[in-house]
Amino acid sequence: MTTRQDARADYGEIRDEVKKLCARFPGEYWRALDRTQGYPTEFVEELTRAGYLAALIPEAFGGAGLPLSGAAAILEEIQKAGCNGGACHAQMYIMGAVLRHGSDAQKENYLPKIASGELRLQAFGVTEPTSGTDTSSIVTFARRDGDRYIINGQKIWTSRAEHSDLMLLLARTTPRAEVVKRTDGLSVFLIDMREAKKNGLSIRPIRTMMNHATTEVFFDNVPIPADSLVGEEGKGFRYILSGMNAERILIGAECVGDAKWFIDKATNYGKERQVFGRPIAQNQGVQFPIAKAYAQMRAAELMVREAATLFEAGEECGAEANMAKMLAAEASWAAAEACVQTFGGFAFAEEYDVERKFREARLYQVAPISTNLILSYLSEHVLGMPRSY
Ligand SMILES: Cc1cc2nc3c(=O)[nH]c(=O)nc-3n(C[C@H](O)[C@H](O)[C@H](O)COP(=O)(O)OP(=O)(O)OC[C@H]3O[C@@H](n4cnc5c(N)ncnc54)[C@H](O)[C@@H]3O)c2cc1C
Repeated sequence: MTTRQDARADYGEIRDEVKKLCARFPGEYWRALDRTQGYPTEFVEELTRAGYLAALIPEAFGGAGLPLSGAAAILEEIQKAGCNGGACHAQMYIMGAVLRHGSDAQKENYLPKIASGELRLQAFGVTEPTSGTDTSSIVTFARRDGDRYIINGQKIWTSRAEHSDLMLLLARTTPRAEVVKRTDGLSVFLIDMREAKKNGLSIRPIRTMMNHATTEVFFDNVPIPADSLVGEEGKGFRYILSGMNAERILIGAECVGDAKWFIDKATNYGKERQVFGRPIAQNQGVQFPIAKAYAQMRAAELMVREAATLFEAGEECGAEANMAKMLAAEASWAAAEACVQTFGGFAFAEEYDVERKFREARLYQVAPISTNLILSYLSEHVLGMPRSY
């Protein structure tokens, strides 16, 4: 049973072990991959072998059975070490949908194999070219045909699809014109992409400003077995929503880790770099942005913990999870800015890793949910102001 205590636990031993693992993947490793937009296969394999990507899978299915805050500690340490958890973080929260809403057969069939690393569940297909923020407007359609569904449509920004065996897909099963609520008629499927690729599924990588292994996925009359459906047909939007708090808390923890990396880098460099015969960090103009980012990071860290505490106690945590993600993404960006300014020209040289982490950190104010939408959520659901869209 999880308790309020779990989110306050520091997971010192796990953090130390993650730190040791990450030390084997220094800046040179990530820089080389960044140049070619390569996937960090060895890093992901090591995390899998060590059991970290199965942190949230219950012990009964071969995972570590940690509470959410344990997974948050792992991801925070990865980012804090200068590595990039974006290569694999989705595996931690995607499987929550299978765990909460999947059939016994799906759980027994997939979770032990995901926990052991035999199968990778890294791809989450929600966003489409014409529907990002407005998930309910997706048009990818799964049509029931006897004991199978036939899928047609296109997803975009499906990260890690080329490095995953399974995909959790959100598709329409009832046309939008035929449902009362726009969020009805959407369904979630757990798809075996190895089979689907032989039958009409194709993947096209998208080059991005940072190395993220993201793709477009095309479905051209792709047949999938009817038992790929997760939970009940038409209730998929709710299932996806139920995983979003976990996703936001984990992304928040990653951003806190990024902020710590930037603050550490900036502080050390500022103390060493001599200009006008004294360390640049002796100047308040250099100190203050770093100190301010530190204060922002600490506040975000507390909000991540508060959100995780509520989540683990099974209490409502939508506001806290959203605020945690927003504050942490802003803190990591403030720290990134301060770090660039502290490094001056050297920030732009590849070998210091600052420019790489700077590019990577920017994403989290846009995805998986943008700051504007979090502010809209707070305005409407916490402060009771009229819905703006
Ligand atoms: C690198 C990367 C990886 C990703 N990985 C995945 C993945 O694995 N799976 C997946 O499904 N998706 C993924 N996404 C998609 C991501 O979740 C979307 O980009 C995000 O939800 C925003 O959607 P959009 O880009 O279509 O922006 P849009 O919805 O077009 O919005 C554009 C801008 O308008 C603002 N906006 C829109 N509506 C409003 C409003 N009502 N009020 C105020 N502002 C508004 C938004 O805040 C945003 O800044 C990824 C994206 C990126 C860039």
